[in-house]
Amino acid sequence: MKFFGKTTLIKKLLAFYLVIVMGSFYFMLVFGRSYIYDQVQEETKNAMITAGKQIISSYFDRPDYTSESIAKMRDELSMTGDNYGNRILVIHNDGDIVLDTGKKNVPSTPYNVRNHHESDFLRNEYTYDYTIGGYLSSPSLCVSLPLLKSTQFLGHLIIVQGNEYITEKTDFYYGVLSKVYYILLALLLLTYIGLYFFCFVPLKKLREGCKDFAIGRDNPPILINSHDEYGELAETLNILGNELSKFDEYQRKFLSSISHDFRSPLTSIRGYLQAIQDGVIAPEDQDKIINIILSETDRLTKLTNEIVGLNSFDRDNIFLEISEFDIHKLIREVTDAVSGLAGKKHVKISTTFQPGTPVIVMADRERINQVLYNLLENAVKFSIDGGKINVRTLLRKDTILISIKDNGIGIPKKDLGKIFDRFYKSDLSRGRDKSGSGLGLSICREILKAHKQDIDVVSTEGAGTTFSFSLQTK
Ligand code: ADP
Repeated sequence: MKFFGKTTLIKKLLAFYLVIVMGSFYFMLVFGRSYIYDQVQEETKNAMITAGKQIISSYFDRPDYTSESIAKMRDELSMTGDNYGNRILVIHNDGDIVLDTGKKNVPSTPYNVRNHHESDFLRNEYTYDYTIGGYLSSPSLCVSLPLLKSTQFLGHLIIVQGNEYITEKTDFYYGVLSKVYYILLALLLLTYIGLYFFCFVPLKKLREGCKDFAIGRDNPPILINSHDEYGELAETLNILGNELSKFDEYQRKFLSSISHDFRSPLTSIRGYLQAIQDGVIAPEDQDKIINIILSETDRLTKLTNEIVGLNSFDRDNIFLEISEFDIHKLIREVTDAVSGLAGKKHVKISTTFQPGTPVIVMADRERINQVLYNLLENAVKFSIDGGKINVRTLLRKDTILISIKDNGIGIPKKDLGKIFDRFYKSDLSRGRDKSGSGLGLSICREILKAHKQDIDVVSTEGAGTTFSFSLQTK
């Protein structure tokens, strides 16, 4: 449904409201009154039949009752009729109206229903809108009950109620119903107004806020000052928006870091190759230059592998190949692998293992190898010449704690919270380590997160650093 431009929920509900108002109004006008009239008529008729039966049992069901005594009952019946609010007639079995509480005296020649061909109604228990052939001045509801004395038929008791009474009563009920109806319409309208302010206004704000998020506009947060579901939703959306803009920021940084990290080795490779092509490299320097080019390509390969690895972690389901292996054996393998690098800097790597039988852990051997390698390689990279590194293991309840401690340059306090961020390198390390991409520690953390383990760092600038993490033991 489209009117006045865009279709909105409030317009739909308003249209629904108008349909309800118009429909119910039409129903009230066309059917409401006549329905009430019919109900009142029915109710009045039943009351008259009950009253008639009571009158018969009180006045006519007596052994001393004869048709001659009827005339004498007039005054008593008038009072009774008044009490019930009805007019009472008695019609003799010959058709004469011998008693009428609505008239002072019965004429000497009484009105005879048979002679006026109006006796049919006597056979029906009730007749609506009837004047008894003009005997009654206005249409009335007439209830007819037979008067019997054992098996002897004496005549009929007629109870009469004018239509005006039914109309008046109908008007009264209709008035009450109309008031209730208007009150209900007003309440419904108030409900709509409430709905508008409590639901549609915040919904509109949410919708506009979401639109801004969708088109990536940097907007102020959605402000809904309530603690209801809308308030909560706005808060959640604001968090989401915040995360989205953080993600945007991360992507920007990611691209600029990645392009920088790729560009510098490429530029240097290109520069050296150009120099070789131009023949400006002395033959005795060629080996050195080729080694530099090789190390730059190694750097590019390492960087590419790290990015590919991180990308697979981002897909959120790192596939771990969990196996059982001796952690001490793996540590020994990794220390051997970095010993060449350590030797160049005269760095000594020692181990202090948990004494006793081999410690078997349950983890992805290949990935843990990567974690240990990254941490040990960092420890060597950031160690001073002749530095010392110690790898220690400590058995806990059902885990083993592995820590790698160096006495290198340390990490400034302000950088400690950021070293696990992707591409982060502390200012202190920049000068010393040109090969690092700043991805190693974030890869370690992702791998350990997949193992449901955390990684910790304790460091003092100028004194050294200790990284530690735990693994599940068998
Ligand atoms: P990179 O590949 O550059 O080493 P990492 O993510 O492994 O990247 O490390 C991020 C930064 O954390 C390093 O650039 C360095 O500043 C700091 N860092 C990591 N390990 C150590 C350590 N053992 N000693 C001092 N600084 C370290």
